[in-house]
Amino acid sequence: MMSMPLPDQFTDNIRPRWHPRVKQHLVRRLYENEAQGILDEELINAVGIGLLLRCQSILKATTAHEGRATCPRCDNIIPHQWHKDEVMTCTQCGWQTTWGAYFKTYQDKQLVGGGAVFAFADYVEHYPHAQSPRERMLLIDRLLHAFHHELTQLFSRPAACNLIEGKITQVIAFLDTLTYGEQSPPEAKDEYTAWCGRAQKASWIRELLQASRQRRPNEREGD
Ligand SMILES: [Zn+2]
Repeated sequence: MMSMPLPDQFTDNIRPRWHPRVKQHLVRRLYENEAQGILDEELINAVGIGLLLRCQSILKATTAHEGRATCPRCDNIIPHQWHKDEVMTCTQCGWQTTWGAYFKTYQDKQLVGGGAVFAFADYVEHYPHAQSPRERMLLIDRLLHAFHHELTQLFSRPAACNLIEGKITQVIAFLDTLTYGEQSPPEAKDEYTAWCGRAQKASWIRELLQASRQRRPNEREGD
């Protein structure tokens, strides 16, 4: 059990809340459906909205990490100086905590957007305006195949690590095994091809994919 901040560290025990990552099996079913031409609007919405809430949490945590925390009671921005014991007080509603306690609520939860903030922000901007399930599916697909743009490709990693449950290595192998078929949108197949190209550029991802592909040779036959 990890140590949790004491209730009295947050006014009225109101804590910042962060949406969890999306479950792998839902994403896998989404792609299997697409490959067979099955349109499951409910599933598209479940994954799409889950990702939307997750992206909103990532943007909020990233902003907090950069010095501007969001008050969980009234959404006002509370600036801070990254000192653990620093008391943060919302000037709008009086809610309080320390920066240390606030930080702990999102620490180690893959919530800092890093080099993929542009992809999370783009999804948050466009998803609510998508007009059809197909459009929503393409936005989901584009988001899941985005990469963190880092100065050095060595540290490059898929944005999906912030979005889908599992260890970073599991998520990368998972993305590599999503199903594409006759009925999959051509744009989705293109995204996957582009994703593989970018994945090859980071040596650690290339090696990881090689190893995981070798472990499942039979599944790839007939591709
Ligand atoms: Zn407030």
